[in-house]
Amino acid sequence: MSLSFDDILDWLRTEDPTALDELFAMADEVRRREVGDAIQLRGLVEISNHCARLCTYCGLRATTRQQRYRMSFKEVLACAQEAVRAGFGTIVLQSGEDLGLDAAYLCELIAAIRAQTPLAITLSLGERPRDELSAFRDAGADRYLLRFETSNATLFERIHPARTPDAPSRPQILQWLRELGFEVGSGVMVGIPGQTLGDLARDIVRFGELELDMIGLGPFLPHPGTPLGEEAADRLLIPFGDMPRDEAALLPAPNTVDMTCKMIALARLIRPSANIPSTTALATLHPQGRVRGLCAGANVVMPNLTPLKYRTLYDIYPNKSNPSEVAEEGRGDLIRQIESIGRTLATGRGDSPSILRRRAMLKNPETNQ
Ligand code: SF4
Repeated sequence: MSLSFDDILDWLRTEDPTALDELFAMADEVRRREVGDAIQLRGLVEISNHCARLCTYCGLRATTRQQRYRMSFKEVLACAQEAVRAGFGTIVLQSGEDLGLDAAYLCELIAAIRAQTPLAITLSLGERPRDELSAFRDAGADRYLLRFETSNATLFERIHPARTPDAPSRPQILQWLRELGFEVGSGVMVGIPGQTLGDLARDIVRFGELELDMIGLGPFLPHPGTPLGEEAADRLLIPFGDMPRDEAALLPAPNTVDMTCKMIALARLIRPSANIPSTTALATLHPQGRVRGLCAGANVVMPNLTPLKYRTLYDIYPNKSNPSEVAEEGRGDLIRQIESIGRTLATGRGDSPSILRRRAMLKNPETNQ
């Protein structure tokens, strides 16, 4: 669907409940037409909470006094088997930017999951060099998630200081991932201090430009004890970036369920066939957050399969860990939530239609004439 920057900005600033119901209904209809009613379940495994970065909002930043862990090879494989037993089609291996998780080890792990299970493998391991990403793909990884967090470069530097001055940018890494044949996922946080509605509108435009296969959107939830966690009470509006300097574009973006759902709906309209999760962060903000996201255009849920002894240590933001959210919950409360809105559970890998089309075009280039 064609949406201009100004159209998007208009939707982001509207607070009229009737108009917003129309937006969510439109996004929900596009979701139904493009990816169907079945909700994809991705089993999330947080394989390490080590991180070399100093993001100014995250509880895993290198300097926090957090007990650290790395799951063993055997433990990760056991989680993969649990994902199969629970009927999930995908496993998502996530970690901080852990320099101790070397590429050879990860390739061996990916190859073992590929050999022993039918699962699609998604990686979310932060910024990695191109040769490592290529090796992960060769080992059997299907998808990679790397959020660009905000399209406002100045704001991004403020929240995600680079580890080295010559580090490649996230847009550059997203380009590599696409060239390497990954199904590519990215996304942003909603309501970063200093972020404006203009920044969010630019994010939506960027999702279209990047032709993303997966889009993750969550409210900004700073961890207390981080620089932005301490600052969050006095949110200052700091205009950054190359947005038009009109009044609407400069309105601050709140980190609310409503604003996140608007972003989900607009992401669905601009990338109709993308896989879009209703995130744990949204569920953390409100008990109905996950269902609200699913009714605003989302079609993916990511139940956490990380062993409980590690899960509470993957402390990115406050109250993230929900010890009751285990695989069984994936077959219990979650099913009830999903059925309550007339949706079903998907089976199979749940590849995004856009990557299937790209791969078909690569096989038969003449169909693209
Ligand atoms: S946001 Fe990611 S890269 Fe940044 S400190 Fe947290 S885990 Fe590390």
